[in-house]
Amino acid sequence: MNTPIEKRNEVLGKTLVEKLEARQFEAYYCPTAKEALEKALSLVPEKSSVSWGGSISIRDMGLTKAFHAGDYEVIDRDLGKSPEEIADLHRQGLLTDYFITSTNAISEDGILVNIDGTGNRVAALCFGPKNVIVICGLNKVAPTLEGAVARARSTAAPINAFRFMGKTPCVSTGICHNCKSPDCICSQFLISRFCKPAKRIKVILVGEELGY
Ligand code: SF4
Repeated sequence: MNTPIEKRNEVLGKTLVEKLEARQFEAYYCPTAKEALEKALSLVPEKSSVSWGGSISIRDMGLTKAFHAGDYEVIDRDLGKSPEEIADLHRQGLLTDYFITSTNAISEDGILVNIDGTGNRVAALCFGPKNVIVICGLNKVAPTLEGAVARARSTAAPINAFRFMGKTPCVSTGICHNCKSPDCICSQFLISRFCKPAKRIKVILVGEELGY
């Protein structure tokens, strides 16, 4: 028997799929991260070149591990041994068949909002890889575009700053100060409101808390 939260997620997931499809995204709802993992793998043919952004969601659900274990040409920026090598892997990732990422937020009418420090992740969303797969836990849904931007700025970005532990004011206070610190992780803001070419971006919504 499904809980009220699971039932609500099922209905919300269906609504969001319709909203995303109206914007030419390909979209799916998976109740669990395990099902989302299987769906993502089913979308990527073997032998494809695959890369990804710095998403915690895709690592937590085991997707990056699964690509390493499978028959894919993986470009993994985490394997870069120097800043130069990592930058080079970032550039190579922009020419792959599939780029995997999460999103910082999604509005209830299907607009994706992302903030990026280096810019490789938002660049890949805009143009470059032939396909992009976005994994998004329903914990990232905000009522409006403004709410999604606020979520990306005030929730996702300060938490992400703690991953890097740079000298940014959010690491001292837990809240965003709209900083211009050299270590700032909020360089680029991307609003993805329409998918062109159609279905290039495939969004997998997950009915479990995933990432932040
Ligand atoms: S304080 Fe700076 S790095 Fe931290 S969330 Fe705000 S803009 Fe981003």
